[in-house]
Formats: sequence, structure tokens, C-alpha cells
Amino acid sequence: MERTDVLIIGSGLAALTTALHLAQQRRVTLLTKKTLQDSASVWAQGGIAAVLADNDSIEAHIRDTLVAGAGLCNERAVRFVVENGQAAVQWLVEMGVPFTADAASSTGFHLTREGGHSTRRIIHAADATGRAVQKTLCTQIRDNPNITLLEHHIAIDLITGDKLGRDDRTCHGVYALDNVSGQVKTFAASHTVLATGGAGKVYLYTTNPDVATGDGIAMGWRAGCRVANMEFIQFHPTCLYHPHAKSFLITEAVRGEGGLLKLPDGARFMAAHDPRAELAPRDIVARAIDFEMKKRGLDSVYLDISHKPAEFILEHFPTIYERCRALGIDITREPIPVVPAAHYTCGGVVTDLAARTDLTGLYAVGEVACTGLHGANRLASNSLLECLVFGRAAAEDILASAGAPPANIPEWDASRVTDADEEIVLSHNWDELRRFMWDYVGIVRTNKRLARAASRIRLLNEEINEYYRNFRVSNDLIELRNLVLTADLIVRSAQLRRESRGLHFSRDYPDMLPVTGNTVLNPRPGRVCPGACDLPTLD
Ligand SMILES: Cc1cc2nc3c(=O)[nH]c(=O)nc-3n(C[C@H](O)[C@H](O)[C@H](O)COP(=O)(O)OP(=O)(O)OC[C@H]3O[C@@H](n4cnc5c(N)ncnc54)[C@H](O)[C@@H]3O)c2cc1C
Repeated sequence: MERTDVLIIGSGLAALTTALHLAQQRRVTLLTKKTLQDSASVWAQGGIAAVLADNDSIEAHIRDTLVAGAGLCNERAVRFVVENGQAAVQWLVEMGVPFTADAASSTGFHLTREGGHSTRRIIHAADATGRAVQKTLCTQIRDNPNITLLEHHIAIDLITGDKLGRDDRTCHGVYALDNVSGQVKTFAASHTVLATGGAGKVYLYTTNPDVATGDGIAMGWRAGCRVANMEFIQFHPTCLYHPHAKSFLITEAVRGEGGLLKLPDGARFMAAHDPRAELAPRDIVARAIDFEMKKRGLDSVYLDISHKPAEFILEHFPTIYERCRALGIDITREPIPVVPAAHYTCGGVVTDLAARTDLTGLYAVGEVACTGLHGANRLASNSLLECLVFGRAAAEDILASAGAPPANIPEWDASRVTDADEEIVLSHNWDELRRFMWDYVGIVRTNKRLARAASRIRLLNEEINEYYRNFRVSNDLIELRNLVLTADLIVRSAQLRRESRGLHFSRDYPDMLPVTGNTVLNPRPGRVCPGACDLPTLD
């Protein structure tokens, strides 16, 4: 058994922020299932929203976030994040993140504008903000003697009091598979932080990296945490459509800087869907593209920025320019073929303003969490900000609390399992799940489609759980088990919402109800959950 003060699961921005704020005073172990660099955070292009400019205001950023959230944001969480935005960005600047400069700006940095923001407030490092941030922080993580980094370790399940024969609603650590040795290891910690990111891989088309399989949401649920707002999956409107491009996103900033959406004949169509045209929020743009593609039987639509000077395009979008050029598309001269794809999981493990969950000693930070910031729809570039603000909040709460890892935890019991006989079960079920989630639980939903998905999930669940009981765990099995559970939580939440709101659109309930609440699912109904935030819930 390995013992540590704080165990952090993940290596995206949420994990690194939490770790670096803790490491001066605590021993931290950081587990991540691939390499340190594998995360959605590395892929973030657009930037980080924060009130930095003289002509911007806290109230304006709060207002924009609440409008996007369509009545379901927790206003306390929104204010908390927005008010801490400037300090969060300042911390990154001090860490040495090379944000794009602008001598003419009062901040010294270039600020861009994205859909749903009433002004320019996105600080960025060209069009590869996540890469610049993660590169800077990863160096600090590797250099820090108080941080033990374990790559290629995938967390399987949280260890709760039940495992120790105690009814204490406490998290004591985690079982994790070392993907190199094939051994399951036991980690005991006084505090455990889920920073495992989102669940885009539940869907066939996604902008997310392969690691985004909803592990933290599923682990939290199995351990007894409430999970909220899982029906609100954000579909990014513009993912590059090309047979050789896997999950390559074309940032919202292309539309922010004048990019136009067009049909194959060159006609614009967004103005017919929303008066804000290309600058309408993501969900409206994604639904408009979905509508045009289905109506006209198109494989994709086009995003055109070629009317801007080539130097401007190269300066602002060097990564997109290079990636498209490698595939034979010159974006300074021709439009980019794009389709919508699953992008962001607004829901997750319910937390309070200190990132505490329903279990003592367990925190959830970043995309895995439902803090109340996003409500029914995330405002662009608020998610990296959420990682920074809640990462720090979790660290401060942990530093203020005492606790020691338990002396004894039973080791993982593999005595009753054997080697898997047919791996094909995993790959088949993996493909089937992602396909029917795309077809039935995608951008536009209906009661019938959700019911179809639910009955298939029941079958998959039985099959996967049987497989899990009988065979040795593998990376693929752990991820598939989590994906199926996450899909189940999405479908159950979508079935409970009998209206269309934010990112959830149902053809059977196209209108928004005058009064509603958050979809909070409780794995232990009847048990009162201490601590975590009081999201107004759906009856
Ligand atoms: C293409 C793209 C562009 C984006 N652009 C922006 C943007 O411009 N601005 C913005 O604000 N947001 C953006 N987002 C969203 C933002 O990047 C994410 O919400 C944010 O990075 C999530 O950070 P995180 O630390 O919570 O999770 P991640 O960065 O996804 O990290 C999760 C980590 O957990 C690890 N992990 C998962 N499960 C396990 C397990 N079982 N055991 C061990 N490790 C595990 C993963 O390997 C990974 O290291 C973008 C997202 C994508 C996909």
C-alpha cells in the first residue's frame, strides 16, 4: 500500500493547479492514466475568460455567464469564479505562461472575443493556449520534490469507509491499475482529488482526447456522490471534417474574428437562425448546423475566414493553419469543412465552493465537477478559469484541514478473476455505445430516442458488469465500464428534463418551462448528503 497526504487523479489544468498550490506544504501524489501531457487542457485553443480590461466589469462577465446558463447557474458559484478570475490569470502570468502580448492594450495582453461574451475578455497564447499553460505548469510539476508523478496509472475505484467496514462516508484513497506492470495498487490518502476531466468519448464524434471517458464521474457515483446536470452536453459547432483528422477543433475565436459559416454553395445561413448570426452561443450554432446538414443531406458545412488578410490569419491561428495545410486545405484561400462534435460535459460530481463533494476527504475539480458555474450551458472559455479557481479553492480547503491516511486498507482482490477470453466484447460494445449515444442522445433528443438508448444501456451494463466480475481489469475495461455508467447518467437526466433548455433540446418538449431546477441524481436515495452545495433541484 502507498501512502500520501493528497492524491490527485488526473494531469489536466485542474490537477496541476491543485497540486502546485498544495506542494509547498503537503506531499502530493499525482496519478494519470497516460502521460502528464495527455488531457483536454493541452488541446484548449481559444483561451481563458477573465475580467482584465478597463472597459470590462465583473457584473458584465457574471451577466454573460448567467445568460448562457439559461436559468440554472448557481449565482454564488458564478460570482466566486468571476471575482477570482484576475488573480487566477495573474498566477499563470507569474508562473511564466507566454500569453499573446498587445502593447496597445491597457492589460499588455491581446484579448479576444468569443460567442456569448459581451466584450473582448479572453486572454490567450495564439491559438494554442492550453498547450502553453500545460507546458509551463508541467515543468513546475516535474521539478517539484513534493510531487510524486505516476504516469500510466488508471484509477479504478475510490476506497470508501464501506471497504473498511466503517459507515463514515469518507474517501480513504483509490485502487489504480499500473498499466505498465499490470498490477493493481492501493493508494491511501487523507485527501483525494478527482480531476479526471469530462466524458466526450461517450459520443462517436467528439473534440475530446481519448482519455475523456467520464472516469471520475463514474467513480464518484459508485462511491456515493450525487451527480448533477448530466443532460447538458455541449456540442462544439465546428470540428474539422476530414477523414484523416481525428477530433480537431476549429476554435470559436475564428468566428469571433470574423469567420463566416456557409453552405457548400457559399450562402450564409446563421442569420436565419439567430440575429447574432455567427456570434450566437455554441448550442444555437451547433443546432443550426445540425438542422442544415440534416435538411440538405450534407456531410459538413464550411467555416470561411479567407476574406481576412493572410498575415492576420497566420498570426492568430497558426495551429489551425498548419493542421489544415497538412491536410491540403489552405485556410487563407478556402473555407474549412466543419461538423459539430461533443465537446464539454457541463454536469458532473456535485461540489460546493471549496470543491468538496458528498464524501469527506473527496474533492472534485475541473470538468468532472458540477459546481453550478455553467448551469444549462457553458460560456466559452469559462472552463479553464473554473479549473484554476476551484483548483486553488480545493488546495486551500485541504491545507486548512487535518487528516491522516488510514493505517490499513485491504489490497485489491484478484483471486476470483481470470484473463479475459474475448477482447472483442469490449471493442464491440465501445463502438455500439458511442454510435447510439450520437444517434439517440445527441444534439436533438426525443422521448423515443432516449428510451431506445436506455434499453441498450441496460443490456450493455449487464454484459460489462459480468465481464468485470469475471476477468482481470484492463485499461479498456475500466474505461468502458465508466463510459456505460456515464451514458446511463446522461440518459436518465435527459429523461427527467421535460423541457428544452440550454444544451438540452427535446422535440417532444420544445419549450422552456417557467420554473425548473437542476437534475440532481443521488446514488443513495434517502441518505442525507452533508457538505456539498445546495443546487435547487428538479422534482
Ligand atoms: C479541443 C478543445 C478545446 C478547448 N478549448 C477551450 C478553451 O479555449 N477555453 C476553455 O476554457 N476551455 C476549453 N476547452 C475545455 C477545457 O479544455 C476543459 O474543460 C479543461 O481543460 C478540463 O480540464 P480538467 O483538468 O478538468 O480535465 P482534463 O484536462 O481533461 O484532464 C483530465 C486528466 O485526468 C486523467 N484521467 C482521467 N481519468 C483517469 C483515471 N481513471 N485515472 C487516472 N487519470 C485519469 C486524464 O488522463 C487527464 O490527464 C476545450 C476542450 C477541448 C477538448
